[in-house]
Amino acid sequence: MKIARQKATTLLSLLLIFLMSCKEEPAHYDDAAIVDEQQTTDWLAYGRTHNERRFFPADQINTQNVAGLKPDWFVELPTDVGLVSTPLVVDGVLYFTGTMNVIRAVDALNGNPIWEYDPKVGEVVKGKHQIGWVHNRGITFYEGKIFTGTWDGRLIALDAKTGQEIWNVRTFSEDSALYITGAPKAFKGKVLIGNGGTENGPTRGWVAAYDADTGAEAWRFYIVPGNPADGFENDAMKMAAATWTGEWWKHGGGGNTWHGLTYDAELDQLYIGTGNGSPWNRKIRSPEGGDNLFLCSVVALDPDTGAYKWHYQTTPGESWDFNSNMDIILADLTLEGKPVKALLHAPKNGFFYVINRETGKLISAEPFVETTWATHVDKATGRPVEVEGARYEEGRAVLTPGAWGGHSWHAMSYNPETGLAYVPALHQAFTYSDEGIELANWQAVPFYGGMGVNLSNPDREPRNYPASLIGWDPVKQEKVWSIPQNITPNAGTLTTAGDLLFQGRADGWLLAYDARTGAELWSYDTGLGIAAPPISYTLNGKQYIALLVGWGGGYAGMGGEMAYSYGWSYRTHSRRLIAFSLDGKAELPPVPPPNYPKPIVDADFEIDAELAEQGAMLYGLCSSCHGLNLFSGGMAPDLRASVIPLDFATFASVVRDGAKADLGMPPRPEFTDEQLKALQHFIRRGAAAFAGRYDAFIEEIKAGKSKERTGGFSH
Ligand code: CA
Repeated sequence: MKIARQKATTLLSLLLIFLMSCKEEPAHYDDAAIVDEQQTTDWLAYGRTHNERRFFPADQINTQNVAGLKPDWFVELPTDVGLVSTPLVVDGVLYFTGTMNVIRAVDALNGNPIWEYDPKVGEVVKGKHQIGWVHNRGITFYEGKIFTGTWDGRLIALDAKTGQEIWNVRTFSEDSALYITGAPKAFKGKVLIGNGGTENGPTRGWVAAYDADTGAEAWRFYIVPGNPADGFENDAMKMAAATWTGEWWKHGGGGNTWHGLTYDAELDQLYIGTGNGSPWNRKIRSPEGGDNLFLCSVVALDPDTGAYKWHYQTTPGESWDFNSNMDIILADLTLEGKPVKALLHAPKNGFFYVINRETGKLISAEPFVETTWATHVDKATGRPVEVEGARYEEGRAVLTPGAWGGHSWHAMSYNPETGLAYVPALHQAFTYSDEGIELANWQAVPFYGGMGVNLSNPDREPRNYPASLIGWDPVKQEKVWSIPQNITPNAGTLTTAGDLLFQGRADGWLLAYDARTGAELWSYDTGLGIAAPPISYTLNGKQYIALLVGWGGGYAGMGGEMAYSYGWSYRTHSRRLIAFSLDGKAELPPVPPPNYPKPIVDADFEIDAELAEQGAMLYGLCSSCHGLNLFSGGMAPDLRASVIPLDFATFASVVRDGAKADLGMPPRPEFTDEQLKALQHFIRRGAAAFAGRYDAFIEEIKAGKSKERTGGFSH
């Protein structure tokens, strides 16, 4: 009896050991697992599943109890700057990508570190031409590996357990003006990645798929045709070439896919959201007109071969940076009583598209923001009906959306239970004009780039608020509710089966709304601007909401005075990863208040007007991080307040010799003493000009006046 019991105990222990060792083995997360909408534990892909809905099907946290949500654990990230990425959660481990493509794995129960991987982006590109490389939107998990694309163009596979590098391939030359900020897409044993850089010089966009096990390139699809004299890669390129005129290949054409990759496991096809033209101005790129395929389109490809299946172009012959790189969400809708396999897409041009993903045919398209460039989309032709003068052919055109778009990369989500899509929308006009540009001889220069069109502030804005959060019904194609926001841009969204919608804002608040009505149910001040979307996961029976808090992204770099006015100055506020739960007890240390770097006035420095003008031209290379018109939004130091430009030798060591390359400051070894001096004069001129109105500006910020805007035009 005793022996029998012992035997039973031994058998039980063996069984336990066997079960535990099974758990030790990497789980086989194949495409079927990644597409499973029912599991309530993990966040397996950029948009949680292959369907990219950002819908979490657990309701432990819900409209009734969300008011009690509290921080459960947090991780301080003092060396990070811009954090814009979506974390992943697999088997109790939370993975995320931070500044300079550093990837960390932490215990999803308490934030304890497991491993860290640093691809040493600064070292790799040291001495080579590059423009900033700080932020990244996400990583990909597939069958035990983590995949990441680095700013400098590498695609890297890591062992998810250890963080050890498995393979590492270069997707473009390290001295190219391209970059990667997006998450790769892993599917069917392959990893897909594109790149960005249409504004950085002549470029011909493409996406490429690599073998997930070896990193060998499996296939490549170009977005736009090359020089016909070189022959076309495929029939799709031949078809596309008929929609271009002039010698477009000299400008590259563009179309670069920096975001918007979706794998449809049900129909076994890929959708890629394609970029804008290079340059933006079609009069330069394709002077006799034409739709310029496949710019600004959703293109369906065969996942095994990369062969073209169908396309739908949202902005034919684009001329405004209205790229279609935004999220592509898969949804099963009921339209006129019939089930339809649809995709949802809200690109920069301001129209919300519902497309039949079996055929590529447009089902409907309605404006979700003001669209003064086009009155509507013609259902019969599927084409936008443009407003006369929108192509700035008669001089200045004040248009909305502007180049920030009606919606950009800030994640849209879709809740199949409420039937609504949630769009972080933008209401900002731009003035476009190519007056004074010699169109026939215009040519972009690598790194110095250019769009072939001049932008300026509009005389008026479409509304008296720059952004909103919209609950949108894709069946009726109408807004169900919207929340005006007096700051921009606000971060991506998460929706749950608890009828909740979460969004972080540029002013540092994370909010929870009733997903059906838009009623505000909970808010939490993180003390620092939010640019990343929240996620949810369940571990040991407890549901968490997790979020990276770390102001960053294009607007933080290029938002100018408005971005500066938020006070999220460079390295003032520690970045954080925060996980919330209903019984959270974590106490977060306070963060410093908003800070506005004060310009240094050097009374002994004599500003040379001509040198300052030359410096202004060179500053175009610096502005995407250090800020438009020298107003830093916090991605890099405000140069007017920095002591480094005051001393020539120190300035040269940083700008020319790369003394701060590891922090993300790319060296410019080709700069002459004269050019460095020109930059110094430009910075001192800007510092002196802002010093004169600094006190008044701060007063305005504190009184909230800096956020006031005059708006209200309709078309
Ligand atoms: Ca663009």
